[in-house]
Amino acid sequence: MRFFALITILAIFGCSDNTRNGSLSTSPTNEDLMTPPVKDIHSYAEPSQAIMQHLVWQAEVNFDSSRITAKASIQVAMDPKAEFVMLDTKNLIIDSVSTGTAGNESATDFSMGKPDDLLGSALKISLSPDTEWIHVYYRTTEGAEALQWLNPQQTAGKQQPFLFTQSQAILARSWIPLQDSPGIRFTYEATVKVPNQLLALMSAENPQQKNEQGIYHFKMEQPIPAYLMALAVGDIKFQSLGPRSGVYAEEGLIEKAAYEFGELEDMISIAEELYGPYQWDRYDLIVLPPSFPFGGMENPRLTFATPTILAGDRSLTSLVAHELAHSWSGNLVTNATWEDFWLNEGFTVYFEHRIMEALSGKDYSEMLALLSLQDLRAEVEEMVQQKNAGDTHLKLDLKNRNPDDGMTSIAYDKGYYFLRWLEERSGRVIWDQFLVNYFEENAFRSMSTEQFLHYLKKNLIEKQHINIYLDELEEWIYQSGLPDNLPVPVSSKFELVDAALNSWANNGTLPDSELWSTHEWLHFIRKLPKDLDSASVTALDASYDFTHSGNAEIQAAWFEKAISYNYRPAYPAMAEFLKRVGRRKFLTPLYKALVRTESGKEFALEVYKEARPNYHFVSANSIDDILNYE
Ligand SMILES: [Zn+2]
Repeated sequence: MRFFALITILAIFGCSDNTRNGSLSTSPTNEDLMTPPVKDIHSYAEPSQAIMQHLVWQAEVNFDSSRITAKASIQVAMDPKAEFVMLDTKNLIIDSVSTGTAGNESATDFSMGKPDDLLGSALKISLSPDTEWIHVYYRTTEGAEALQWLNPQQTAGKQQPFLFTQSQAILARSWIPLQDSPGIRFTYEATVKVPNQLLALMSAENPQQKNEQGIYHFKMEQPIPAYLMALAVGDIKFQSLGPRSGVYAEEGLIEKAAYEFGELEDMISIAEELYGPYQWDRYDLIVLPPSFPFGGMENPRLTFATPTILAGDRSLTSLVAHELAHSWSGNLVTNATWEDFWLNEGFTVYFEHRIMEALSGKDYSEMLALLSLQDLRAEVEEMVQQKNAGDTHLKLDLKNRNPDDGMTSIAYDKGYYFLRWLEERSGRVIWDQFLVNYFEENAFRSMSTEQFLHYLKKNLIEKQHINIYLDELEEWIYQSGLPDNLPVPVSSKFELVDAALNSWANNGTLPDSELWSTHEWLHFIRKLPKDLDSASVTALDASYDFTHSGNAEIQAAWFEKAISYNYRPAYPAMAEFLKRVGRRKFLTPLYKALVRTESGKEFALEVYKEARPNYHFVSANSIDDILNYE
């Protein structure tokens, strides 16, 4: 058994992190290949002692007490000399811990470390040389930050409660005791009991309909990191979209969702043509209630999505391309630590734009690229102003910080532009072949920034004789701001929008409301002059009714402008929006804009008091900071 375990450890650890300090010249030695992953500063796990390989999770979901009661059985591979295994927990009540095989368990010693606000408590479990399985009996508490329990009023159907999880970055430990580090992968199976009128789904092989017992079985046979553990429970229906894809949603939303995601099978085929086979069998989506804090979360086999992308015209489905792309970048090749987050997100934005280019043309994808550049420049400027220039590095320093701090447009958009720059320097054919090999050779492994640079140097720059210099790479990755050689896209569609803005300024003619797509309108709104008299603002809103747009992106962009113009007629709709929608990307800029004035801050606090119970922890945590809310 131990022999097996050691072999597995070597296979899991694969390549090393020996080039951590930005030196690109050293090749891994055999010794490096036996080195465990770098110690993850956001996890108590000590993988060099014992590493989890498989999880059997048996759980009961109780909506009356907002609690999950569960047994987590964890199969470990251990160093022969290891005396304990370390797991991450946060705000869990541990009832008992045992070791041994099912039916033959015996209690074992364990201790809980001092709780840390960010990291939670280490659960240290004693091992004997022949331990293979450990079993943790536990309950979640109100402090389960990953879980959001919704009452029926907070759902579309208003009849049944709903539960969903958001584990990224380090919240999985608040509902399952495990090794919560992106560098550690495991397979899992689960049995989950829920009230029998509800359906349970996980990031795994999923049921497509309810059963009378309310007991569901799950299996995830491909190894995943803890942040991809996911659960949703609600009055959920399924509709097939194609041979290997479908959508789950509450009944009232399912038709709308099925229409919106009608291009999904095409997207999967395009993605495979670009960068190799889809490795997770099925790809399904679930549309969650509006309090879901993100646009989407790439939980394997089952992307979690916000209903704010249901625009009715498929105009916001690049988000689906993004989550689908994560099936390669992120889920297959995973950032080794949260300081390497750009490897997940920069690759995914790049891949997303390539899918959208193939699906809707370059005209379309260049609009996405330009909007991303606008976000990027604004964020860099804000960081530099706030003297956080270090956060504009692709490789982050998150020591003693929440990994959430790294979820900025640097990882996404600067990461995207770095890869676009590499494409331009290498030529698309060579670059695409490099990426196909990259995903294939590193599948189901983690990747640090330095490992990536090493791989890039060896397999692209040297092998293909590409003129890229190390100091250029280092500038992109380890230096502040944006390099001068940043590629700048040109969009003829946005040039027409700019011309329309000019002619409105010069002769008062507004463009035809039927003329443009969502992205052109977003560009139009973003480019509105800083100062606009109230008659012009009123005229704009009278022509297009941005205030009541059915498109959440347009509404959010407009509300931000409305705040800066102090355009009060938009405020009631904005208050309704802030109370209904929990997507952090929309909330943050609006609350930030509101607190700039005394009256705005008063309004924000009033709205927030009512809205906060509807937000997931990750959104509430960010907005608390903006409003100094206690
Ligand atoms: Zn992403």
